[in-house]
Amino acid sequence: MLYTSTRNNKIRVSSAQAIAQGISEEGGLFVPCEIPQFSIDDIGKLTTMPYTERAKTILRTFLTDFSEEELDYCVEGAYKKSKFSSEKIAPTVNVNKNENILELWHGPTCAFKDMALQLLPYLMTVSAKKTAKGKEIVILVATSGDTGKAALEGFKNVENTRILVFYPVDGVSPMQKLQMTTQEGDNVAVCAINGNFDDAQSAVKAIFTDSEIKAELAKKNMMFSSANSINWGRLVPQIVYYFSAYADMVEQGRIKLGEEINVVVPTGNFGNILAGYYAKKMGVPIKKLVCASNSNNILTDFLTTGDYDKNRDFYTTTSPSMDILISSNLERLLYHLSGEDDKLVSDLMHSLSDGGKYTVSDTLLNNIKKDFAAGCCSEEEVFETIKEQFESYSYLIDTHTSVAVRVYCDYVKATGDDIPTVIDSTASPYKFSKSVLSAILGKTPDADEFEMVDELNKATNCEVPAPLKSLKDKAVRFNNVCDRENMSEMVFSLLKL
Ligand SMILES: *Cc1c(COP(=O)(O)O)cnc(C)c1O
Repeated sequence: MLYTSTRNNKIRVSSAQAIAQGISEEGGLFVPCEIPQFSIDDIGKLTTMPYTERAKTILRTFLTDFSEEELDYCVEGAYKKSKFSSEKIAPTVNVNKNENILELWHGPTCAFKDMALQLLPYLMTVSAKKTAKGKEIVILVATSGDTGKAALEGFKNVENTRILVFYPVDGVSPMQKLQMTTQEGDNVAVCAINGNFDDAQSAVKAIFTDSEIKAELAKKNMMFSSANSINWGRLVPQIVYYFSAYADMVEQGRIKLGEEINVVVPTGNFGNILAGYYAKKMGVPIKKLVCASNSNNILTDFLTTGDYDKNRDFYTTTSPSMDILISSNLERLLYHLSGEDDKLVSDLMHSLSDGGKYTVSDTLLNNIKKDFAAGCCSEEEVFETIKEQFESYSYLIDTHTSVAVRVYCDYVKATGDDIPTVIDSTASPYKFSKSVLSAILGKTPDADEFEMVDELNKATNCEVPAPLKSLKDKAVRFNNVCDRENMSEMVFSLLKL
């Protein structure tokens, strides 16, 4: 299996190269040259396998330059039962009739990013051994919350790696901040940036491309890499759980092997739903992928009209991980659905960076609509839906999952398409206790973060995840704050160079 770039499809690299390098030289994203195919019988065989074996079965077809031993080492290390609060790793739970929830938040940081970021450090260190001759990898992350913590947990104490995380000083929830500033591990550091997420993100990007800094690092036998979702190594682990959810549905007798399902995904950067698209193309019987957005509904507009336009108001919502106006992974979808037209993708992406918008042809839009549907909902509807789901089915969801559930209900009402459906649940409700508790109580509680966790627990009887419970007693290790302009010095100081 070889990989090419969405902006130059003459390029050919191995999976190890794609993962170690992160992004292609000319700015394109790495994509597989072919899509591996699974028959219905192949998929049927997954039903009796544990999650780790399901993962190896899928990953083997993409990472053909990894040996069986390497694959074992990576997968068994990433999805150790001791790190997840569910034996099944990613369980599929029936909530009501054809509504099934795929719980992706049983990992160490209680958000779905663990599913990829527990595996990525293993994939990356094995890849670096193959392609970068023992260089120490320095992971730089700008985060609006969930990615930073999940990357820290994934990379902590991983040999031959260091990780530095930058977050906007006032841009993350109190729980998210505490999760990061108490991070354990010998190779980790965390720093707040005066500014918003975009400031943190562009400062990190500037450091990545600064040739002086890169040269300084090379002298110490180090290199930068990225853990964000444009890396193929973050996308490929996510394909696994769509196969796994389908196998669960068969195993539970909710569908017959071969029967179609719909999938609904609360979407931000388009990584999670794109993994679902790959699963569909590989043979999982998925009828529609429903893209759910909050008030930042740029994807709803694009998927219905073909116009992508980021010149619009930006809303800070209670589902912050979906507050995004540039969904990077859409680039990969455009590449596959335009008949691998690298020139077109390159043009579209340039018009996005120049003028903030692009429009696709009717043909391309119609291709997209064959596989995708889209919808969005308001903040009020997010709160209503949390309350409704809890009162009707005693099932507690977080704000991001609520967006997906609401869009699912609207989709069924509008289309009558009520076949068995899997809805991705991307965070534990306790990660967003304030909003969830407000939704349940119908008023905003006046309490600190941990009091709200307790109160939510009392009001709902749902279990508090151990990693969040234990935060209260952890010491804060990182108090650094810096200005954007001083970030490169901060990088050197944190690396003790
Ligand atoms: C990152 C995140 C999302 C969005 O996922 P994308 O792959 O960026 O579309 C949704 N919900 C939660 C809780 C997240 O952390």
